[in-house]
Amino acid sequence: MKCCETNSKNEKSVEQSTICPMCSNRGAKVQMVTLTNLLEENLLSLIRSNNTYHWCREGSCEVSYFSNDANHFFKIGDLKVKATAKDSSLDVPVCYCFNHTRQSVLDELRATGESTVIEDIKAKMKDPGCFCEKSNPQGSCCLANNRKWLEEAKKLVD
Ligand SMILES: [Zn+2]
Repeated sequence: MKCCETNSKNEKSVEQSTICPMCSNRGAKVQMVTLTNLLEENLLSLIRSNNTYHWCREGSCEVSYFSNDANHFFKIGDLKVKATAKDSSLDVPVCYCFNHTRQSVLDELRATGESTVIEDIKAKMKDPGCFCEKSNPQGSCCLANNRKWLEEAKKLVD
């Protein structure tokens, strides 16, 4: 079976708790530490320690984290930072651990014709090490986001 063929059996086995209650897209599971670090302080008491939370990756959806209770979720405005996937502004970080923004990648491209952002992140992942689960609202590695932005940014510079 090829990966692109639909498998109705698989689709049925997707748990309801992994589907965003607002946009119906499948989310990515996040650790509790991501919520406690990225949500506004005054909302931390709302986090339910026995729930599992997922990050909604859909750019047009207002939800940030949703839980296994469809009525209990957080929104983009509940985050302390702007999320790469949810905000296309140039001042939004593309790497939260080592402070790269869309703008900084674009500036480097304009100045030198190249960007070392991927190499820089990879080197720093080794030393001093990254902490995406606490810094990035999506709770996971940013490299895919950087590759995507680099492609888009190169078109803007050409
Ligand atoms: Zn959503």
